[in-house]
Amino acid sequence: MGRTYKEFPGVEWISETGDFIKIDKAKCIGCSNCVNVCLAECFEIVEKKARIKTLEKCMECASCWYVCPENAIIFSWPMGGTGYKSDWG
Ligand code: SF4
Ligand code: SF4
Repeated sequence: MGRTYKEFPGVEWISETGDFIKIDKAKCIGCSNCVNVCLAECFEIVEKKARIKTLEKCMECASCWYVCPENAIIFSWPMGGTGYKSDWG
């Protein structure tokens, strides 16, 4: 069996420190940009609106915030980091 994402060399995973990504449902137009850009599969579309599935694998890359055309994603980097910390920066 192959390694899981938790076992990637040089990476330490940090447990969740709270909600650092929120979706403003009133602004969301359900375009799926956030779903498509997120390599960690954090989003899903439910009833034409984006919803956070889980932030378990979130890398804090902020791509979802960047690609949202409606500024519907409220993103703040979590204190101390959530997700992973790497040896290379
Ligand atoms: S910050 Fe990056 S990894 Fe986290 S939910 Fe957004 S796109 Fe996905
Ligand atoms: S990118 Fe923004 S507008 Fe598009 S589905 Fe995601 S939250 Fe909604």
